[in-house]
Amino acid sequence: EDFAQTPLLSGLNPEQLAAVTYPAEPLLILAGAGSGKTRVLTTRIAWLLHTAQAQPHNVLAVTFTNKAAKEMRTRLGAMVSHSLRRMWLGTFHGLCHRFLRIHHREADLPPSFQVLDSADQLALIKRLLKQAGISEEAVVPRVLQGFINAQKENGLRAADLDAPDPHTKRLIACYADYEQTCRREGTADFAELLLRAYEVLNARPELLAHYQSRFTHILVDEFQDTNALQYRWLTLLAGGGAALCAVGDDDQSIYRFRGARVGNMADLMTAFGIDAPVKLEQNYRSAGNILAAANAVIARNRKRLGKNLRTGAGAGEPIRFYSAADDAAEARFIAGEIQALRQEGLPLAHMAVLYRSNAQSRILEQTLFAERIPYRIYGGLRFYERAEIKHALAYLRLAVHRDDDHALLRIINMPPRGIGARTVEQIQQQAQSAGVSLFAAAVQLAGASAKIAAFVRLIHDLHERAQVADLAELTAYTVAASGLHDYFAKQKIPAERERTENLDELVNAARFFRPEEAAGWDGVSADTAGVAAVAAFLGHAALEAGDNQADGGQDAVQLMTVHAAKGLEFDAVFVSGLEEGRFPGEQSLGDAEAIEEERRLMYVALTRAKRRLYLSMAQQRMLHGMTRTGVPSRFVGEIPENLLHFLSPKPARRGAGHFDRFGAAQTAAAGGGFYAGLRVRHTKFGKGVVLAAREAGGSVRVKVNFGSAGIKELDTAFARLEME
Ligand code: ATP
Ligand code: MG
Repeated sequence: EDFAQTPLLSGLNPEQLAAVTYPAEPLLILAGAGSGKTRVLTTRIAWLLHTAQAQPHNVLAVTFTNKAAKEMRTRLGAMVSHSLRRMWLGTFHGLCHRFLRIHHREADLPPSFQVLDSADQLALIKRLLKQAGISEEAVVPRVLQGFINAQKENGLRAADLDAPDPHTKRLIACYADYEQTCRREGTADFAELLLRAYEVLNARPELLAHYQSRFTHILVDEFQDTNALQYRWLTLLAGGGAALCAVGDDDQSIYRFRGARVGNMADLMTAFGIDAPVKLEQNYRSAGNILAAANAVIARNRKRLGKNLRTGAGAGEPIRFYSAADDAAEARFIAGEIQALRQEGLPLAHMAVLYRSNAQSRILEQTLFAERIPYRIYGGLRFYERAEIKHALAYLRLAVHRDDDHALLRIINMPPRGIGARTVEQIQQQAQSAGVSLFAAAVQLAGASAKIAAFVRLIHDLHERAQVADLAELTAYTVAASGLHDYFAKQKIPAERERTENLDELVNAARFFRPEEAAGWDGVSADTAGVAAVAAFLGHAALEAGDNQADGGQDAVQLMTVHAAKGLEFDAVFVSGLEEGRFPGEQSLGDAEAIEEERRLMYVALTRAKRRLYLSMAQQRMLHGMTRTGVPSRFVGEIPENLLHFLSPKPARRGAGHFDRFGAAQTAAAGGGFYAGLRVRHTKFGKGVVLAAREAGGSVRVKVNFGSAGIKELDTAFARLEME
């Protein structure tokens, strides 16, 4: 009773309290969306520290995204007074990266090893295929990339593999070639971080024993989406008697395509002697209608572990459904509603637009931009993925590791310095025949070409400075000395010129880089000078590419895929593109297991909303240059109709089976020819889009969003409205 009165624990319900203060024994919490799993996990860490059951360095906590890790660190910081510097809190990749930086020697990696993100990885694969004279038809680069990653995620090296059929044999040979190149160039892709960290721990009992006794508490969020290798890594570390606390929701398992295994939950219980999972059944996030809709949808899945979710909140607003004439009209509708919510005082940052696949963001972005609504994209082209940033990072990579062929190829003629494709080929041939790196080959050829000589001098210069200079100084110097900054500054197109701002921002990022807050650095000096600092910064950049938009703290709508939205919550959520073949996605149609995965994805989407939920679709959409007719998603049909509020006439097209109720004829006539999504023009307010139209007492009133002129309600008998 005493404990429940400490501010730390106040406000928890009895089940949550029990989980937070559970003894130091293996524990699995299985609970639905919004039931406080993440909150329990965070509070448990605070509780352990607060009661001195653990010191920060005894805790290893795994989250699914960098964003989640940052949030947890901030929350913890507010709950306890401990310094959290030595706590290992991050994603699987982030933590393994930290581990390998410390133990690069044991892992047989150069101290300055570089992390390849997935674009780097693909580029490397293409280069290797070309060198081996294999056409991209014979071995599709993306297929090979998927193959390599899947093998690594199952803990398998090329040498472990064998196959009877020639195609797989060839993939295995390419995998072996790829492994060798990474070793030579001192690079590691994302999957490699995990596999290598696992192998090192597995092969070195003394190291394993050290970490096993250090981490007395291991906590994992989103456990349902761990893959086979992550599971093995976790159980290896926890195998020395650590109190492992895993929280998850089988209904939110959405990474099957990346090897996630829901079966890990059952396996964990067996392996750690857990009799039954702890359940949390109260949802604190969503209004009643939203939760009822989510529960109704997920109830259609057959493979479930079984949980209940109730809410203490009222029913709240109905769920709004809007069927637009086409995708542009859908985007305009969303923009109009965002404006309206904003006028009601809801900050943009509390609204999210979700979509099934990244490609859908383009038209949304275009519309939001036109309407001057600031937005931020998670999962699109992010700061560290932008071309100019990757160029600058490639120079930094060469500065610490001159044999990085991949980096060299990226920038040998960027900015243009007259080293053409023919010269590059010469360098490649020289490298191959002499069995050396491209840079070493360039050094050999420098005597014959002034241009190559100048390039070699530049890289040597950067290399020397990297040994001694401060990270921020080195970055600033590199951006200037490489000629990148000048090159972009001289461009005629404003968007190209603006790339210099990103380069400046990179220097800022280097200035504010704190290794211990990023990948973490205890055991290694937190120096900000020298090769180790640059390498840490580069690793951070590759991993960070996930979560940070560059453009500061401006209030902005959040745009992201449903996958990226996992674990997050927003006051208002728009789930867009709800058509058969889009959500559920095309590949899943006709495959019962895949449809169940899509349905879990829909469950995740719906349960992100706290107060207001919009579902939308387009009756026509351009796809691969062709107009396609959209049939409403079956998932919308699975929501009880009494929870829905139709903002548009129900679509005219007949769907099959349970979404028949959308078959009602379109009745735009009810609005005197005006309907939501219709583009209009007003002499004074300019261009607008109709949000709603209704007929009353013989006149037709329309609500129109005129963008910068605001949202107006007009009587069409008086207002001169032209249909565009
Ligand atoms: P998801 O499955 O989506 O990851 P979750 O189970 O991790 O959800 P949380 O994000 O931890 O749920 O919690 C959902 C919301 O409910 C948060 O805003 C959280 O602060 C709030 N919440 C959790 N427990 C309580 C409580 N006992 N009292 C009030 N609010 C709570
Ligand atoms: Mg959570």
